[in-house]
Amino acid sequence: MATSVNSKLQQAVTDLADKRAELLVALVRCPSLLGQEGDAQRLMAERLVDLGLEVDVWEPDVDEVRRHPAFCAYPGFEELGYRDRPMVVGRLAGAGGGRSLILQGHMDVVSAEPRAAWAHDPWGGEQVDGKVYGRGSADMKGGLVAALSAVEALVASGIRPRGDVLIQSVIDEEAYSNGALACALRGYRADAAIVGEPTGMEVIAAHAGVSHFRITVEGRSAHPAHKTEGVCAIEKSMLVYRALMDLEADRRARVRHPLFPNGSPVEIVVGTMHAGSWRSSVAGEAVLETRLGFAPGETIEQVQAELVERLRVVSHADPWLRDHPLGLERIGYTASADLPIEHPFVGVVRGVARAGGLGEIELQGHGAGNDMQSLIHHAQTPAIVWGPGASDAAHVANEFVELADVERATRLYAETIAAWCGLAT
Ligand SMILES: [Zn+2]
Repeated sequence: MATSVNSKLQQAVTDLADKRAELLVALVRCPSLLGQEGDAQRLMAERLVDLGLEVDVWEPDVDEVRRHPAFCAYPGFEELGYRDRPMVVGRLAGAGGGRSLILQGHMDVVSAEPRAAWAHDPWGGEQVDGKVYGRGSADMKGGLVAALSAVEALVASGIRPRGDVLIQSVIDEEAYSNGALACALRGYRADAAIVGEPTGMEVIAAHAGVSHFRITVEGRSAHPAHKTEGVCAIEKSMLVYRALMDLEADRRARVRHPLFPNGSPVEIVVGTMHAGSWRSSVAGEAVLETRLGFAPGETIEQVQAELVERLRVVSHADPWLRDHPLGLERIGYTASADLPIEHPFVGVVRGVARAGGLGEIELQGHGAGNDMQSLIHHAQTPAIVWGPGASDAAHVANEFVELADVERATRLYAETIAAWCGLAT
């Protein structure tokens, strides 16, 4: 019985190849940049309605989302709000008696600049040798298409899962996971979730937290003829920079996690520095923006306390900084998360991967943030990240995803639904 059901499902996945390619191309042709996600989300909603799912399309209440402690504003949010930026959730109601599953993806994409670096139109969805090119093809419209196609394969085969299957198409992932938070606040939960980010079908069961801080360094500007009366904020910034790199080295040696065997996900990057007002003046101020990673099991409060202490020590050692305290502002963060390897969902995914020809999977940790943490912390939904496309194809020029990879993900998702949610006979 199981074999005939599985072969029916596999045949349906094969038969849906053209529809997957068509939808992926259509989604890539919607430039769903920050603030422009409406068209792509409406297209997704239409296709979910076509499948006969119950579809919820809503613009989150800005005040409700903003009130949540995990909400983080980003530049432009105040003007954008959620007008014409809906969330979309489709629900395939189970027959009852099974475990539920969320398949989640984000529709927002990052900028395609610099455009000159592209050999393909980033919004063209060009197909060449089995690949679809374009911004968002791998990160992560391919994963969303695989999720929808897996459910379509079930529907087309007349196979009904016992547990509910939800497809969540969110926005705001590239900012601070506010979209995933909005779904949690709407009440969506399940017994497990897959976030279909491009992992090359590696299973990510832990990921870093990401925090952003702005550090303001005061100096005293002066005319070059009176340079000795000035205090160069750039020079003082070097002390701060060195302190941050020392903090990173210290944390790398100290903070451990089993899924990060080659070092902890604690990278610190000083991404921007703006200083001075004129090339001939001693710089009177410098502003550094920095990113601190943190491991599953660590909280933002712990990491921030370590940063504060490190800056206190460096300031104490410098007479100027002792009297002119550094400014420190937390700009935003997303939490770290992990799923215990003994969780039953991990066992089911292992079995599906083995049967699907992936062999014995080794769980991985990932050094960047994504919506997995939001599902775990705010929707109380155990989650992994597992999706088609190479992670190094994301955020770069000539981004692409292989249609064969999207097909493989579709098969694995369909089999995971069957194995996790159960099938009604
Ligand atoms: Zn992504």
